[in-house]
Amino acid sequence: MKEVQYNGLTFVPYIEREKIDARVKELAKQISEEYAGKNPLLLCVLNGAFPFAADLFRGIDTDAEIAFIRLKSYEGMQTTGNVKQVLGLTEDITGRTVIVVEDIVDTGHTIVGLLEELGKHNPAEVKIATLLFKPESLRADVKPDYVGFAIPPKFIIGFGLDLDGKARNLNDIYVLKEAAD
Ligand code: IMP
Ligand code: MG
Repeated sequence: MKEVQYNGLTFVPYIEREKIDARVKELAKQISEEYAGKNPLLLCVLNGAFPFAADLFRGIDTDAEIAFIRLKSYEGMQTTGNVKQVLGLTEDITGRTVIVVEDIVDTGHTIVGLLEELGKHNPAEVKIATLLFKPESLRADVKPDYVGFAIPPKFIIGFGLDLDGKARNLNDIYVLKEAAD
């Protein structure tokens, strides 16, 4: 693996694909055991979570379903930038176990807004699976249930995570070079 550049910024390898794969398999096994016979609905938050969600879903060996949503910031009247509109929730989640699949939890504001919205549809329970978690950045009262990697508050890209829409197709996760140790 070598350095990559986007928007004039240099990124260096941070988490290799083999390590990602191994960790995602562990999470899938844990979910399979905890939800055996319960048919959870994985709710993949587009765009960033799709590579993680695909691997996690395929690793689950009990009945499970997957659906995809997108979050859109409210425009106009809304004063808080944190609350997002949920687009594409066509499944009836009433009484269901929902596992939200995110790429990263940073401040936690996004996930809190999403949990509020999902709560209006009366699911039985909502869990959060995130590939990455920056605990030191957390500003909201929320704790992800399944975490791939807890990392320091450094900007990363790859395996779904983007810089202005770019770099999602990198097979490994890279960190901004000036932030690397
Ligand atoms: P929040 O701060 O937890 O609400 O996270 C909001 C969003 O910021 C995430 O869903 C990502 O899209 C983005 N984000 C946070 N940290 C990073 C990063 O290191 N790289 C790329 N995107 C990030
Ligand atoms: Mg995201």
